[in-house]
Order: sequence, then structure tokens, then C-alpha cells
Amino acid sequence: GTIEENHREAIERATTDRSFGNWIDGESVAASTDETFETTDPAVTIPITAVPRSGPADVDRAVAAARDAMDGEWGETTAAERSRLLREWVDRLRDHVDELALLESLDVGKPLAHAKGEIEKALEFVEYYASVGRGQEGVQVPVSNDSHVYTRREPYGVVGAIVPWNFPLVLASWKLGPALAAGNAVVLKPAEDSPLTATRVAQLSAGILPDGVLNVVHGYGEEAGAPLAGHEGVDKLSFTGEDVTGEEVMRTAADAITPVTLELGGKSPFLVFPDADLETAVETVAGGIFYNTGQSCDAPSRVLVHEDVHDEFVDRFVEAAESHVIGDPLAEETTMGPLTSRAQYEKVTGYVDAGIDEGATLVSGGDRPGGDLADGWYVEPTVFDGVDNDMQVAREEIFGPVETINTFGTYEEAIEIANDTPYGLAAGIATETTDLAHRAAADLEAGSVWVNTYGSTVTGGPFGGYKRSGIGRECGKDALEYYTRTKTVNLEL
Ligand code: NAD
Repeated sequence: GTIEENHREAIERATTDRSFGNWIDGESVAASTDETFETTDPAVTIPITAVPRSGPADVDRAVAAARDAMDGEWGETTAAERSRLLREWVDRLRDHVDELALLESLDVGKPLAHAKGEIEKALEFVEYYASVGRGQEGVQVPVSNDSHVYTRREPYGVVGAIVPWNFPLVLASWKLGPALAAGNAVVLKPAEDSPLTATRVAQLSAGILPDGVLNVVHGYGEEAGAPLAGHEGVDKLSFTGEDVTGEEVMRTAADAITPVTLELGGKSPFLVFPDADLETAVETVAGGIFYNTGQSCDAPSRVLVHEDVHDEFVDRFVEAAESHVIGDPLAEETTMGPLTSRAQYEKVTGYVDAGIDEGATLVSGGDRPGGDLADGWYVEPTVFDGVDNDMQVAREEIFGPVETINTFGTYEEAIEIANDTPYGLAAGIATETTDLAHRAAADLEAGSVWVNTYGSTVTGGPFGGYKRSGIGRECGKDALEYYTRTKTVNLEL
């Protein structure tokens, strides 16, 4: 059939006999106003299903349910018990990987195989915290034989979690895993463009996690996100999204002095030194920038290439860009799907125009594919060469499949250009010289540095930003620190 017929059939299959309401206190509920909005399949721009358009009253209800859970049996669980429950939940979710992957693919426009890999990764993260969450030890502070001073790591209580649409379940798992393992209850606000998988994983927690431990409230940022960010009943807030939204969220949270973790955007540099294995470098950068149609917070969107290898790098990179199979996310051969929303499409094509206007050299892509794909929000993999670091396309996060290439002569120049950005989420290096790799890793202002590889976040490796890219760390044992607070107990014997 046509793409449209295939997607209508898949949407039917993915949504029949399922409801995608809010999940509060262990049940599926509508918004208190009964209003809904539709989430759209970006490959064919057809609505998938309606979800609740929640407001402050729904957030109140979810926060109250989470508080009740903390005051009830969940607040009494041991780390070992929570570990067992989280594992049981993951086991159940493993039986639904294909279903979750289809929902994620339809909602976001990801190739189905990528969506499946990401769902598996999300489960791996929760499973990781089911293990390391058991190691929440305090310290004993030596004073004298008559005094006993020790610390306890206690959960905050109610955690508010707000996530974006680019990796919906993976980014939710980065918050749910450590928050739940540490003993908190959570109110999760998924992005309005990708509400589906979060709803299903919450529904699939029924009977395993006590009611109210995990709540999902759908809605727009200003209507449902902001009331959650500013809620007096939220003890800890964890936000992933754009830096300007992060600013707003932090301001809102300031009213109640709620601590925040912020995972924000990036404009990450990738340095190609003259001794690099160019084939690997090209493959690594192309994988990083074009995966998920460029909608990755840590995408290596500024390539800085040494002048001696510039021409060869660009030739090979253009070839890699053009080898992408853009198409139906549900088709096996597709390596790149559409952008996730019309807003995203307009933003990305606006930057392509800006790059041309600023005098960057368009060496590949830039157009919207036609034919069968004309109805979806597709953009070709796009490559700009001759990009100065002060151009808009080099300074602002495009969040699309657009690579910008610049050259450098000396090491110092490379580091200077790389660090000349308000962001600091990630950076990459391609070199065969170990000393150079370590030196550059130290000199780059970024929360993650990848050498001869890029972008894969492992469960144990902390992830987060320097500068405008955020506050705090997710992943690794570090994340647990952000979902617990320290109590010091002083005892005189
Ligand atoms: P966004 O900031 O527009 O939205 C993120 C979430 O915040 C959504 O759920 C949205 O509804 C909500 N929101 C919007 N306004 C709000 C408000 N005033 N108060 C509370 N919540 C509000 O971001 P997006 O467009 O969904 O996602 C893309 C951005 O996320 C990019 O900048 C990207 O770099 C960033 N991101 C960062 C990471 C990371 O780990 N650092 C990971 C993925 C994405």
C-alpha cells in the first residue's frame, strides 16, 4: 500500500482497545475539564489519538496521589523491595517492546528499528537503577567515643519530571529509574508531541508499583508543565528540554525553592585532527548528527576539521549524508524519518535559509523530499561548509539533520572555536594520538567528551551539561544523588 495506507493500518493496530488518558493513582482518567488534544504521526501528518489536555487541577490531583503513596506503603519500602518491584516492572515491559516501539515510531517519526533499540535501552536504564539504587549508603563521621554522627540519604518525596519529545521513553527512564529506585514517587509530564509510550509504561506498572507511585499527566507546557514546576507539593524537579524553557522552569521552581536538575540543549563541537582515521571520523559524525533526524540534544552539530584533511573529510561526509535512506519509518530500509512536528520542520528549514543567507556553502541537501514523502515533515540531510563560528547556524541549536563544517589550523584555535559557544553538553574528538585525545578532553568545556566514537550514553556514565546546557547529572550513580537528600544525625552517647 501507500505510506498513508500503511500508517493508517499501523495507527489502528497501535491504538485499538487502548486508552491514553492521564494515569493518576493507578487509574486512567480524563482531564478535569474533559478537554483533549491530538498527537500526530509526522510521516503522514495524520492524527494518532487524543490525550487529555490537563491543567493545574490535574497536576494537583497527581501530586496529591504521589504524596499519598509516599505516606503509604511505598514510603516504607526498603531499597531491596523497590529493586524487586522495578525488575518485575521491567520484565513486564520487556514483553511489550514491539508495541512500545511502534507507538514511539508513530509518535515521533523514528525508524521502527531505532525505536525498538531505544525502548530496550530505556528498560536497561531502569534495570540498572534497580541494581545500583540498593547502594544508597550514608557515611559515619568520626568525632569522639561519646558522639556518633552519621548521614542518611533519604528520598525527596514527590518528584516532578518534565521531558521532551526527541527520545521520549529513554529520557523518561533517566528520571524514573533513579527517582523510583531512591524511593520517591513521581509525576511525569511527557511532551505534547510524544505522549504515548509514557502512558503505556505507566499503565503496565499497575499491580506492581503501588498506586500513586508513578503518575502521568499530559498537556501543554504552559498549562500542565508550568503548574508542575511551580507546585508547592513537588520536592524535586527534573526537567529536560530547551535552554530557554529551562530558564523559565528554574524561575518557576524558585518560588517554592524546589531544587532542579536541568538537561538542556547543545551545540556540540566535533574536532577532526589531521591524524584521524577519516573513515571512522566521518561515520561517527554522520551517525551523531543524522540519527533521529538530528533531533538529539548532544548532536555533534559543529564539525571543526584540520585544514590539511578538510577537503577529503567534506567529500566523504557528503557521500555519507547522501547515502541515507529517507523514508517511511515503518519500512525496514529507512535510516532517517521525518522531523517530529510542523514547528520543528519550520524551525529547521528556517535555519537552512539562514545559513544560505549568511554565506555558508550548501554542499548537500537543504530540500524537502518529494513524491511519497511530500506530505510528511521531511528534510534531507544537509551539510554546510565554510561556516564561521559567529554565524547563526553555528551558534544556535538547529535540532535537525544539518551539519556545519569549519576549519582550524592549530590545536589552540580548535579548542578556542570549540569552546566559543554558550552551550557545553558534549564534544567529540577524532585522533589516533592518545596524548592529544586526553589533552583535548581536558580542555573542552563539555559534560561529555567522546573520542573516536560519539553519542552513546551508557547506563553507568553520568550525562549532563556545562554552561547553558544544564545543571546536575543524569545516568550513572551520580543521578541517585539528585533524587536523595542528606540528613546528618548527631547522637551523644
Ligand atoms: P521544550 O523545552 O519545548 O519542551 C520540553 C518539555 O517542557 C515539554 O514537555 C514541554 O511541554 C514542557 N514545557 C514547555 N514549556 C514549559 C513551561 N513553561 N514550564 C514547564 N514545562 C514546560 O523542548 P522540546 O522542544 O520538547 O525538546 C527539545 C529540546 O530538548 C532541545 O533543546 C534539546 O537539546 C533538549 N534536550 C536535552 C537533552 C539533555 O539531556 N540535555 C536531551 C534531549 C533533549
